[in-house]
Amino acid sequence: MNPDYIVGRFAPSPTGPLHLGSLVAATGSYLFAKAAGGLWLMRMEDLDTPRVVPGSADDILRTLELFGLKWDGEVIYQSSRGDLYEDALKILLDSGAAYPCGCTRKEIRSLASAPHKGEEGPIYPGTCRNGLAPGQKPRAYRVKVPDETIIFDDLLRGELRWNLAHTSGDFVVKRADGIFAYQLAVTVDDAIFGVNQVIRGNDLVASTPRQILLQRLLGHPTPLYGHLPLVTAPDGGKLSKRDNLVGLALAGFDIQNAGKLMEGVLAFLGHKPPAELSGAPPEKQIEYAVSNFDPAQIPLQDRPFIDVTL
Ligand code: GLU
Repeated sequence: MNPDYIVGRFAPSPTGPLHLGSLVAATGSYLFAKAAGGLWLMRMEDLDTPRVVPGSADDILRTLELFGLKWDGEVIYQSSRGDLYEDALKILLDSGAAYPCGCTRKEIRSLASAPHKGEEGPIYPGTCRNGLAPGQKPRAYRVKVPDETIIFDDLLRGELRWNLAHTSGDFVVKRADGIFAYQLAVTVDDAIFGVNQVIRGNDLVASTPRQILLQRLLGHPTPLYGHLPLVTAPDGGKLSKRDNLVGLALAGFDIQNAGKLMEGVLAFLGHKPPAELSGAPPEKQIEYAVSNFDPAQIPLQDRPFIDVTL
């Protein structure tokens, strides 16, 4: 696919203040979209209501503005779009691509026939694929995963291959608590808003083949994908709240140190602005990176963040 007009997006989950890893993903997706002269949409993924922290959606938006990342159009809130996800689920069920599942998590974990650990828990062994056991009630809805390789060309990492039958098995599209799963909502929204370029952290790379499968089943085009390096803790491990030098609640960020932090983010993405821009507002730093954008300069390995102010 080589779209004439790029539509990118950033899709934070409002489960707390924007953190450093998300600021890197936001900046990376912004650079890709804007360097191509395209649009950059903003979508709040606020479906997982038990995890949503009240006030954090606004906090995230204000933080992005402070860092000079301006989105195009209105913010899209997934919480107001349930009917569209319901329609998509109906299409999947009517075509036999999805089915109700009555298994509890405990049952799935304890099944002797599920010896393989998937990337996110055990691989679903397909217990309810051919119908619920008599008397069993539907809990979740799953999509049938074919035993075939899904191939996509990552804009940063080249060709990636995935066989979902070996990594997740039939995955959930509507959860037992009635909440639409991330995979379905993202697929529907990316398609409806014409998103054709998805740039996000490499922690989501295992989701991409699931979304590609759903696109195929729902008749949607597949966007271009690129997976950015992740910010790790100083010891190379997962970044914890404590290491997260940003926390990025607005407190304490004036425009000058926002500029400094943006300089660090751009350096992390291989686009450190020149010395004369040091200390300039974030907009100026970003402007430089957009005009000098070269995806080949983005280092791919996950690593700690270097605070350029030190
Ligand atoms: N909402 C997801 C997250 O914050 C990102 C979704 C996406 O970029 O596809 O991890």
